Amino acid sequence: MLEVLGLTKYFSSGLIRKRYLRAVDDVSFKIEKGRTLGLVGESGCGKTTIGRLILRLTKPTGGKVLFDGVDLFALNRRELLAIRPRIQMIFQDPDSSLNPRMKIGTSIAEPLKLHGTIPKAKREQRIRELIETVGLNPEHVNRYPYQLSGGQNQRVVLARILAMNPDLIIADEPTSSLDVSVQAQILNLMKDLQKEFDHTYLFISHDLDVVRIMADRIAVMYLGRMVEIGETGDIYDRAKHPYTQALLSAATMDGGRRQIVLEGETSSPIDMPAGCRFHTRCPRKRERCTIEEPELVEVGRDHYVACHLV
Ligand code: SF4
Repeated sequence: MLEVLGLTKYFSSGLIRKRYLRAVDDVSFKIEKGRTLGLVGESGCGKTTIGRLILRLTKPTGGKVLFDGVDLFALNRRELLAIRPRIQMIFQDPDSSLNPRMKIGTSIAEPLKLHGTIPKAKREQRIRELIETVGLNPEHVNRYPYQLSGGQNQRVVLARILAMNPDLIIADEPTSSLDVSVQAQILNLMKDLQKEFDHTYLFISHDLDVVRIMADRIAVMYLGRMVEIGETGDIYDRAKHPYTQALLSAATMDGGRRQIVLEGETSSPIDMPAGCRFHTRCPRKRERCTIEEPELVEVGRDHYVACHLV
């Protein structure tokens, strides 16, 4: 369903002496239809930029994104508008996705109108169906976002997305602004909707516990580069990259692991050091790590790691 090949985004700054912030650097991955890839890493690692690049909200520096075989970066405006309903994004804060002056029913009707998928006479009925599918009550259609909780508003966002009948959903920290109990409800709802409608998810999060629940495969990002990717079970049981191991040791679900505390400074994405980008914090670094950047290599079935020690 989605194939990302050598995706790269550098942001430039400085008028006289141009400097480049390497937000995303030569990142490749695939997601099969109906499956979920979890994209994890600390804030600033480039995971949100990847979501925005796929949606063409940000212009790429290089690489390709194939969606159902279509090269998204080669599309003109009209072709892009035609394909866009099939790719939707859920943002962290549901309040920023909803118009505070619009009643919930009107808000859900908007995408239906825009894409003309449902005739006007059937719109009311479709809104009721969508409201029910995301677990809200019919009376919610006449309320405003400020009258609903954060979890209820995220359900409204999901209803608006379902109205487009998407194939691919990019979820960027969709539950991180919600209470823990509500988080679980929204994650379960997203899983149920995926089963019912065969959605493909790119699930972006800094929280490995959440990603573990949602993802079939996990990709770990560090300073714009992918450092490890594999099936969720392999990543949890056989993580090879020192950064993945440190992230896992801090995940609360894995109380049994010895916590690895990373010392040293994170390098600046503008002033990237030579060699492995993680060497300034890596507890296992060797001399070679400060000179040569490691490539992703296969270490098991569908399991790739970028580290000189594997
Ligand atoms: Fe650590 Fe070296 Fe591996 Fe980088 S290449 S993660 S510095 S051991």
